[in-house]
Parts: sequence; structure tokens; C-alpha cells
Amino acid sequence: MNLTGNLLIGATDVLATEGSMQALNPATNEWLEPSFAFGGAAQVEQAATLADAAFDSYSHTSLTERAAFLETIADNLDAVRAELAARAALETGLPQAQLEGEAGKAATQFRQFADVVRRGRFLQLAIDPAQPERQPRPRMDHRLQKIAIGPVAIFGASNFPIAYSVAGGDTASALAAGATVVLKAHNAHPGASEIQARAIRKALQQHGLHEGVFAMLRGSGNAIGEALVDHPLIKAVTFTGSEAGGMALYRRAQLRPEPIPVFSEMTSVNPTFILPQALAARGAPIGDGFIERMLVNVGQACLCPSILIAIKGPGFAELRSAMIHRVTAAPARTMLTPGIHGAYVKGLAALQSAGADPVAVGTPADAAFEGHAALLEVDGQRLLAEPALAHEVFGPSALLVTVSDEEELLAVARALRGQLSAAMHLEDADLALARRLLPILERRTGRIVVNAFAHPQEVTFATVHGGPFPATTDSRFTSVGMSAIERFLRPVAYQGFPDALLPPVLRDGNPLNVPRSIDGQ
Ligand code: NAP
Repeated sequence: MNLTGNLLIGATDVLATEGSMQALNPATNEWLEPSFAFGGAAQVEQAATLADAAFDSYSHTSLTERAAFLETIADNLDAVRAELAARAALETGLPQAQLEGEAGKAATQFRQFADVVRRGRFLQLAIDPAQPERQPRPRMDHRLQKIAIGPVAIFGASNFPIAYSVAGGDTASALAAGATVVLKAHNAHPGASEIQARAIRKALQQHGLHEGVFAMLRGSGNAIGEALVDHPLIKAVTFTGSEAGGMALYRRAQLRPEPIPVFSEMTSVNPTFILPQALAARGAPIGDGFIERMLVNVGQACLCPSILIAIKGPGFAELRSAMIHRVTAAPARTMLTPGIHGAYVKGLAALQSAGADPVAVGTPADAAFEGHAALLEVDGQRLLAEPALAHEVFGPSALLVTVSDEEELLAVARALRGQLSAAMHLEDADLALARRLLPILERRTGRIVVNAFAHPQEVTFATVHGGPFPATTDSRFTSVGMSAIERFLRPVAYQGFPDALLPPVLRDGNPLNVPRSIDGQ
């Protein structure tokens, strides 16, 4: 594909209005061709107006039509998979083979959401028929369906340039819900973003859908993102990135004359608790496996486990030395952007200033934006006295927290902020302690994993990728998995409607054969 660097708004390409940028190859520190356009408030206005104009027709597409559109996006992504992975590798420093896998998963995700749409269960249809004879007063016929919330703004993430970016789960679930999308591409991978956006636009054209269903913008600095969140036609926002960015956009949206939901996924250290019998039985493999998972994506994955808590006792020395061994053997690897690399270096220094002792480092970096692996340690009392030690350092580092007994392990668990995930490694003889730890973790995380790690991510009906603040700004929802669609839906009840005026999915006789509850059954 010939990259143009233009913004994609409606059916037309839009040239730069606010300057332009080039992508940086973080592995070589060289600029990549071509130039990519920056837009501003005028382009936000154009895209949001088109998204609003497209909303009524798109949100009323039949389930069959919408599912077919999502499947065509998947086919179009498959057709550009090799090219997309190659460009994403140049722009991120991540391995091309890994990115081919990520592109394949992104296409699969669109197919999974097509299946969700066809089944129709997401509409949560409920019918409470009229009760004309009811005393003391009759009940009207009530029928409920979920409809799309409106045009939504999606901020592409930096760390997974496909699966959490333009053709990622946010876009797939929003389009599945019937929402129209204005996407702000992340400047870390503009070429990969354009390839994905063109695959989506092509599918729109193949299905003869309104040109405003999807737009891709790009801008410099905060102004374009702020204009997007402020725009009165935008009705919800999704974001994956830093706590500072996610909270700035969340606060901004609450100050609008019409506040809107902001689903920010921000920060998580994914704490891993090693219970005593598991430590004694499997200390070395657990330590090795933990560091292996920590290093995935150069530690730049949301589910990267980066804090391990263990009671000093049998198996602890083996656990610690396996962690040291794995970290020491790890080569330094290119990080996603100079900014993320700089934040990593500063974060490691901050951990040491807060009292963590460095115990192992990987092979030193020999290129500008390579991050070296690091293992630091601290005792439980220090962590309890200095909660900043439990904040995320985005990159390939881990903190080993040694606690003296079960009570201190539980106290450390209570001191943690909200998380996307937590893990417990346990044997049968650890169940009593696990039962005490479990309610503490339930209150603090969206997923709890036993004898494994949360990463790699599965996209299923039971996946939860969310959690209490600061993991996200709304712990009631997930941003990954089939339930991610719920962020873009709201209920509408239809009372006393003639059958011919009802939405087809709610008509008598269930002509579309979709699951519906009648009087709660
Ligand atoms: P980021 O700085 O939060 O930026 C994400 C996106 O939001 C970018 O498009 C950015 O635009 C925009 N943005 C950020 N703050 C904004 C504001 N106040 N107003 C308007 N737009 C705003 O995240 P990042 O660039 O991906 O990485 C920076 C740091 O975020 C990392 O070092 C890491 O700590 C964290 N991060 C965490 C995760 C995770 O899964 N836990 C994932 C990714 C990043 P600009 O690019 O123009 O600023």
C-alpha cells in the first residue's frame, strides 16, 4: 500500500493543516518516510459532524448487515497482514513475527464481534407484556433493547500498535455496538495506523455504508485530543495509556456542559503472590516464569507482571536466584518511543530513591532507546511505608517484595491500588491463606489468576480487562473480551408501542429469532 500520510475523514483524504511528522524507527533512531499530516479542531469538527450524520443509518443496520461489515474488515486486515506487520515493526522496534500474530488476532477479534452481533444477545432484549387486567391499575407493555451510545472517540494506544490501536478491540467493539468512531491515531506508529484505517474505510465502501462511520485523525500535542473530548457530538471516549493522560481526559469530559463516560485504561503492576507451599515446591520455576512474562513486549504490556510478593522461607532462595538469573541473561531491547524509554529510565531511578535495592540488571543497552531488564527488591515494611514503590514503571523491570509472614503479605495486598490482574501461586495446603487473600484481591482487581500469569491475553466471553482505579476510570466495564461492547450501549424502553413501530428485534413473534426475556424468563 502506498502510504499517503493523510488524515482519513469520510471518503476523502485530508491534507495537513497543522504541520506534519515523520515516524521514528526506535531501533535505528532514523526517520521513516513519508510525512504524516497533523490536523486540528477543524478536522475534529468535520469528523464528528460526519460521525453524527452517519449514526442513525449505521446504528440501525440489521444485525446481519453489521456482522458482514465486521467480517469484511477482518478480511481486509488479513489481506494487508504482512505489510502491516512490517511497517509496525519499523515504527515500534517490536519483532515482525509477533506483529503478524497481533494482526491476525485483530482480524479474529472483528470476526468474534461479528458473531456477537449475529447472536443478538448483546441487545439484552426484555419484554414485559401488558397486563390490562392488573389491579389496582393495568400495566403497559414494556420492551427494552440496548442501543449504541452515539459517535465515540477512541484514542489508539502506543504499546500494541494493532490490537489496541486503530483496528483494535475498542474500534471492533464500538462498531459492533452500532457506534460510529472518530479515532485519534497514536503518533508512535502512524504508518501502521494508516494501513489499518484504510482497511476499515475500504470495508465501509464495499458495504455501501455512510462515509462518516469511521474517521482517523492525527495531531500534535494535546489540542486535538482535547477538542475531540470536548466535541458536543461525541458521546463516549476510550483511552489506553498513562494515568496522567487518562485522568486529564476523564476530568475534561466531566466538565463538559454534557458530561460523557470516559473509559480510560491506565496503569497496573499485576501483583503476583507466591503462597508458602507453592514457594517451597516450585520456587525456581515460578521465579523464572514470572520474569519471562515480565519481559514480554519489553515490559510494555498492560498485563505485564511487575511486582512479586513472597514470604521468606523454604524455596525463597531458589525463587530469587531464578529471577536474578533470568534478568541477568536478558538482552536490552528497543522500547516503543524515546518518551517511553526516558520514562522507564526515570522510573527505575525513582524506585531506587524510594528505597528499592537493585539486585540484577540485564545486558546493558547499546542503542539509544533500548531498555535493559532490571530486578529490584524491597521488604514489605518499606513498601507499606512508601506506596509509590508499588506504582508502575512501564518497561522491563520487576520488584521483588519480601514479607516476613502471612499477615504482612495480606497487609501488602491491602495497600495496593486497583489493578487489571493479580495472580496467586498456590498448592492445596495454601488454600486457607488463599481464602483470606481472595476477598482482598477481588476488591482490587478485575481478574485473578491461579498458578499462571494473566498474560498472554485471551479474547473471550469471560475475559475481564478492567479493574478499580487507577487500572481504569470505570471498574464496571472491560476493554477486552466480548463484554467490551457494553461500554458503547445504553438501554431504551418502548412502552405501549404498536407492533409495526417497534424495532424489528422487539416485534411480536420474534421475527429475527434473537434471545429475549419475557417477564424475566
Ligand atoms: P500517553 O502519553 O498517555 O498518550 C496516549 C494518547 O493520549 C496519545 O495519543 C496522547 O497524545 C494522548 N494524550 C495524552 N495526554 C493527553 C492530554 N492531557 N490531552 C489530550 N491528549 C492526551 O501514553 P503513551 O504515549 O502511550 O505512553 C506514555 C506512558 O503511558 C508510558 O511511559 C507508560 O507509563 C504509560 N502507558 C501505560 C500503558 C499500560 O497499559 N499500562 C500503555 C501505554 C502507555 P500525544 O501523543 O500527542 O501526547
